Order: sequence, then structure tokens, then C-alpha cells
Amino acid sequence: AAASATNPSLMIGELLEAGVRMAGDNQIVYRDQRRHDYRQFQARVHQLAHALTLQGVKAGDVVAVLDWDSHRYLECFFAIPMIGAVLHTVNIRLAPEQILYTMAHAEDAFVIVHEDFVPLLEPLADELTQVRGYLLCQETPQPLETSLPLVGEFEHLLGQQPTHYDFPSFDENAVATLFYTTGTTGNPKGVFFTHRQLVLHTMAEASTFQAPGFELLNRDKVYMPITPMFHVHAWGVPYTATLLGATQVYPGRYEPDMLIKLLVSENVDFSHCVPTLLNMVVSADAIASQQVDLSGWKVLVGGSALTESLARKAWGLGIDTRSAYGMSETCPLLTAGILPGDVTQADIETQLPWRCKAGLPIPFVKLQVADTNGQALPHDGHSVGEVRVQAPWLTQAYYKEEARSAELWREGWLHTGDVGSIDEHGFLAISDRIKDVIKTGGEWLSSLELESYISQCPGIAEVAVIGVSDDKWGERPAALVVPTDLNHPPTSDAVKAFLAQFVEQGKLNRWAIPEVVRFVDEIPKTSVGKLDKKRIRSDI
Ligand code: ADP
Repeated sequence: AAASATNPSLMIGELLEAGVRMAGDNQIVYRDQRRHDYRQFQARVHQLAHALTLQGVKAGDVVAVLDWDSHRYLECFFAIPMIGAVLHTVNIRLAPEQILYTMAHAEDAFVIVHEDFVPLLEPLADELTQVRGYLLCQETPQPLETSLPLVGEFEHLLGQQPTHYDFPSFDENAVATLFYTTGTTGNPKGVFFTHRQLVLHTMAEASTFQAPGFELLNRDKVYMPITPMFHVHAWGVPYTATLLGATQVYPGRYEPDMLIKLLVSENVDFSHCVPTLLNMVVSADAIASQQVDLSGWKVLVGGSALTESLARKAWGLGIDTRSAYGMSETCPLLTAGILPGDVTQADIETQLPWRCKAGLPIPFVKLQVADTNGQALPHDGHSVGEVRVQAPWLTQAYYKEEARSAELWREGWLHTGDVGSIDEHGFLAISDRIKDVIKTGGEWLSSLELESYISQCPGIAEVAVIGVSDDKWGERPAALVVPTDLNHPPTSDAVKAFLAQFVEQGKLNRWAIPEVVRFVDEIPKTSVGKLDKKRIRSDI
């Protein structure tokens, strides 16, 4: 609906207003380099809006951002949509030709670029004919030799602007953000979200983060993302943290030493990340040797399944982990690991399996698991099918991609491509991606479940399981394993013998024991740190 005095639009700017009212003195921190309070944060958003308007950016224009996680990025999260333009968070870890593809496909009209990415853009600029200007972000102002047609430097331009901008109110269904999924096949796919969708997602996320036992964010908490801001708006949490007035710490480029330094010096209460990143932090020397104490830190883990062994390891260090589930197409949050009341009272071993499941749908999310005929399956905790979802914040299509959009949205449901089950409490467990499930002897074998068992084997740091084709069984599992000690890996027979105990306990089928266990130094990862099963398949 159009904005009116009696029925105001749901605008992203209101989230910032609320945060400033709630916690004007709370800080926004950038590495060990800069800090300012919420009032300054707000003033800078207004200044950025002026700077962009001065450069001719107007409602409907797409503005690309290439930056590390920073206070500047947070300002872009607000200022760009608040003037009616569309924020395109460019995935800086894609290959250059894919970055070019996304920027051309999005028709970026203006680009905000950190100096580290200038060399990346220079050779692409000739082909980005629709870009009208590039605004440079520098850590310390200094002359820069570049062929990019720069219009100025971020800090310098902001400093010259008034600290009040009269933001317009407009249709809440205007697109606010756009970005591209990492796309394991074909070109990256664009997804987009409106002001209304982001506001509703933020409200639901905020209410979820207040749940008993969760209590992740409020104005007394300190928040630091370890999920890049270019990837699904860092799960939308910067918006939620702003609404709630939490202290926010932006770590810039992810370097283990800096992350740990900030976690400690800023007393971070809450972060979110993919399992590989959590594993990197808890395996860092300073943590493992207990020189550094991270107890009390709460981490929401998503993007891939949290394994029990990682959750247990974190717990041993006093780190409280829970799962969350979602995807780029879903803004992203769909479910979160809010445990049933009786489970929260139980010992940690009883809690671990719950903590590693995807969790309960957050408010406004409707979930189904459906069989191959599209029939909804019962919520019995073991019927397994494709997860389908409805919610007010799902991307309505892939940007300018009709055929792929029709695949995503069928019968009024967004098809996640994930396989899972829902129990009688409504708790979702993801068992695999449809394309990663191993079809062996007419059964579906979950690669995730097998990874979880193998990861418990002594001497194993990391594991990926894929299906390899087999004449007799259709497919058989194969495991790629990184040993903890590269010089003394366990034998593949030891791994198989370790798995045999789960077969005896009736937890695993006999044919789930991998045919091949190969030891490697490293497992290929996607641009956001997930196991890259496509590359693993081609390597094995
Ligand atoms: P991409 O699809 O490019 O890897 P996304 O961030 O959109 O990037 O990934 C979403 C996918 O990640 C989901 O469809 C699901 O397969 C997986 N995923 C996310 N959260 C979880 C979770 N808690 N448990 C298991 N898998 C998860």
C-alpha cells in the first residue's frame, strides 16, 4: 500500500530510529580502528544519503558495495535503501568473471568500493558501462593511482555533508536489497527483498532472539557477525542488532587473530557463523591452549549443519552453540534452535542432538516436508522429504530469471532443495540437500549424518562425504578426510572400524560405511566456507 499518515509504510529507516532511541550511547566498533555511538551512526547514515544524492543516485538505482564487514557497510545497509535505491551487496569471493556477471546483470549504477577491491574492478570497469561513478573507501586517506573513474573518498565526502536528510516515505514493497547466491551450478542467481520483507524479517528475528535460553541480543549485549555482510545481509542480524540497540563490532576482513582479539577486548556476547569458521576459531592456538577464555560467548551456527563434535568441543570451552537454518532465497532465517523446555533442563549430551537440528520455525514461517508427489508428510520426526516454505520475506523470484524462478516457486511453496523431517513439536531436522543425498541400494543415505559420525572418529579434523556411482548399488558413499595430524593420519580401515560400532548399535546401515576413505590436506570450500561438494565430486 502507498504510504499515508494513517497507515505508514514499513520502512527500514524505522529500525535505525528505534535503535537510536533505545541506545543512543551504545557503540559501533570497527576493528581496533574506530568507534562511535548510535547517534553518530545515524548522523553518518544521513550524510551518506546526502553524498549519494549529490552523486546523482536516485530512487530505483542499484548501488553496489564491495567492502569488508565494517561500520561503512552498516551505513550502506540503511542509507541506500532509505533513499529508495537498491543495495547490491557484491560477493567479493566470487571469481572475477562472476562478479562482472552479477554487477552487469544487476545493472549497478553506482559502486562503493574498498581500496582492497580496486585492483579487482579495474579490469572489469570497461564492461560495466552502466556504472556512473565509483566511491572509494580507504582505511587511511592517501593518494591512489587507479584507472577507475573515482568520484571521491567515502570519509572525505561524508564529512562535507549535513547530518540531517529528509528521508522520503514510499511504498513498502519497493525493493531494498539485491544479491546473488553462490550458485553451485550455472550463473549466480539474484534474489531481492523489499523494505516490508526486511522489516518483518527483522521483527521476527528480534522476537526469536529474545526467546528464553536464547537471549542473544538486546541493548546490553555486544554483537559481532562472522558471516559476511555481502551474504544474505549477514543473516539480517545487523538490522536486528540496530533495532535492539546492541553494541555492534565489525571485524573487517576475517583474520583469526583479529577475530579473537575483538571477541576478548570487546567482550562479545553473540556471533553467528558457518561451522567451518567456528571450527577455525575454537581450533586457534590461543583458544586450544586456553590462553584465551571465550566462555559465555553464544554462537548461532548455520549455513551448514552443526555437528555434535563441534558443538561439544565449543561447549568444553564454555561456548554455547545453537543452530539456525535458512538460505539466500529466504532472507534467510526460517528456523532457530530454541529447545523444548524439558530439554533445556537436561544434561549437555541430551541437548547436543537438539542443538544440532535446524530448529523451530520462527514467527510467520510455515514449513512442510513433502514427498516426490508434493504430498505433505506427517510431523513424526522420521518421514523424510523436501522442505517447502511460506513466509512473508521470501524472494518472489530469481532476478530476471523466469525459468529458474518457476523451479523455485511451485504450488505456492518455495522449494528449498533440502531434505528433512519435522517432529511432533514442529522441530525441523535437515538431513541433506536433494543433490547431495546418496542413493544407495534404493535407500536415501544422508551425507550429513555420515559426516557427523565420521567427525567423531579420533584423529579426524574435517570430513566431506559424497556419493560415487556404483554399478551394483547405484551410488556408494566416499569420504574425504583431513586428519588432525597430517603426518600421522588414521588408516582408512580404522575409520571403517570406528563406523562399524554405529552399525552394531543399529544407528547406521551397513552400506553406509564408505567404500573409499581418502586422506587429504584440505577440503574444497565454496566462497562462503561451505564444503564444495561439486568440486569434491570432480576431484575424487
Ligand atoms: P548457497 O546455497 O549458495 O550455499 P545459502 O546460504 O543460501 O548459500 O545456503 C543455504 C543452504 O545451506 C540451505 O539450503 C541448506 O542446504 C544449508 N543449510 C543452511 N543452514 C543449515 C542447517 N542449520 N543445517 C543444515 N543445512 C543448512
